[in-house]
Amino acid sequence: MFDVIIIGAGVIGSAIAWRLARHDLNVAVVERDDDVASATSKANSGIIHAGYDPEPGTLKAGLNVRGNKLYPDLCRELGVDYLACGSMVIAHEGQEEKLEKLLLRGRQNGVEDMAIISRDKLLDMEPNVAAEATSALYAPSAAVVSPYQLTVALAENAALNGVEFMFNTPVEDVLVEEGRVTGVRCGENIFAAPIVINAAGVHADRLAQLAGAERYDITPRKGEYLLLDKAMEGFVRQVLFPVPRGSSKGVLVVPTVEGNILAGPTAWDTEDREDVATTPQGLEEIRREAPWLVSGISWGKVIGSFAGLRAVADNDDFIIRASARVNGWIDVGGIQSPGLASAPAIAERVEHLVGGLTELNPRQDHVTQRKSPRVSQLDRMKRQQLIEKDSAFGRIVCRCEDVSEGEVLAALAGALPVCSLDALKRRTRAGTGRCQGGFCVPRLVAIISREKGIPPHQVTKKGPGSPVVSGWLDKGWKQ
Ligand SMILES: Cc1cc2nc3c(=O)[nH]c(=O)nc-3n(C[C@H](O)[C@H](O)[C@H](O)COP(=O)(O)OP(=O)(O)OC[C@H]3O[C@@H](n4cnc5c(N)ncnc54)[C@H](O)[C@@H]3O)c2cc1C
Repeated sequence: MFDVIIIGAGVIGSAIAWRLARHDLNVAVVERDDDVASATSKANSGIIHAGYDPEPGTLKAGLNVRGNKLYPDLCRELGVDYLACGSMVIAHEGQEEKLEKLLLRGRQNGVEDMAIISRDKLLDMEPNVAAEATSALYAPSAAVVSPYQLTVALAENAALNGVEFMFNTPVEDVLVEEGRVTGVRCGENIFAAPIVINAAGVHADRLAQLAGAERYDITPRKGEYLLLDKAMEGFVRQVLFPVPRGSSKGVLVVPTVEGNILAGPTAWDTEDREDVATTPQGLEEIRREAPWLVSGISWGKVIGSFAGLRAVADNDDFIIRASARVNGWIDVGGIQSPGLASAPAIAERVEHLVGGLTELNPRQDHVTQRKSPRVSQLDRMKRQQLIEKDSAFGRIVCRCEDVSEGEVLAALAGALPVCSLDALKRRTRAGTGRCQGGFCVPRLVAIISREKGIPPHQVTKKGPGSPVVSGWLDKGWKQ
């Protein structure tokens, strides 16, 4: 019996788990996939938006601005990379009035230090900006994080503080008796709890329906991206947005914490809640739109493409509420952008809702620090010291991202029970670089096989049904 069950281990479920782990509660997270950040939380722009975009008075507006303020300390506490780069909305001739509107909206939402800057200043700050750009709205409080690094850190910290994560465990039914939620059913297993939090991303509306809670509908909206090589590092210094058109923020050009450049996303509604395939049309749209922001982008430097699904609710706002129909059921649905930026603030709000349903007492042995060395971020001296302590940190398994075997071993022995290639990628970056795994995958398969005591053909890319190799020629996998 748990005190609280959270459905979904995206950034929202993981942030809620991290927050609730401060209290003396028995919390479980049930996730259908084999790891955290396996859905929308791994495939987005990674922007901690300043908060000038959402309509004043909406949950999005309040939680975005609050979340933005919480991020620097959160990232420091969890050891998550945080790029305090700022953002700019770039105007072309005739669009300047729209910048004024955004500035006003930002001020209403409580965003600080925004300014409209002239073309000269803009060129100073962003030398590669498009020749047609006339001015920009500058928001210094915007930042960038790695969304999966953050989600892993939140979840690992929650796990260190006693939260139980169950992977490959899809919730198939919600159990309700006499108007109170009593737990969830996952296949043959029943997990009992008097409080269930629905953080199931694009599937949240269906789970709310299963529970018999207040109805809402989610439409998935696909966003596709192109990822450019680190050779482009510095091509843009802040997040660049076009002036927004309709319901989308448009195609952006974003510096990542790792030094790559991201271009995208597109915005296309889809009926398929699993469709994260990129398309020739989507990628072409990115190539067509990005030059609005910058000139000279080198498309020959593209090393990958991916897509994510926004969970667009019919009220176009976040839905965060304790159900009035089903006691103990809490919906956290429609968490589209700025969901990542708002995550710590959403977690605070949900903590407050949980506090309205059960008593919250602080956990005495709460651990706040999470540390794991990243070889690529160490100077020569520190690197040498680390290798002297443990030679595994001197064996580089991913040459593109400079990832050592020591980091892979630390990830495999981490607080969360994971062993797929994608899970390792999210924790160490092995396989995300220029060769996209060409060099490291055989090495990673061998390490996982050795450490977990399984044959290489049982190592998967992302859990059951995704083998990496189909067999072993020399039958000598144990060597
Ligand atoms: C293209 C794009 C760009 C974006 N850019 C930004 C940005 O720059 N800044 C920003 O603030 N926000 C951005 N967002 C929004 C942000 O990514 C989301 O708000 C956030 O990731 C949502 O997290 P989540 O945990 O709700 O959803 P998810 O990450 O999708 O997690 C939900 C989890 O629930 C699990 N699940 C579903 N059904 C079940 C079930 N039945 N049983 C068990 N588990 C289940 C899923 O497997 C999944 O892991 C963007 C989104 C997209 C798509």
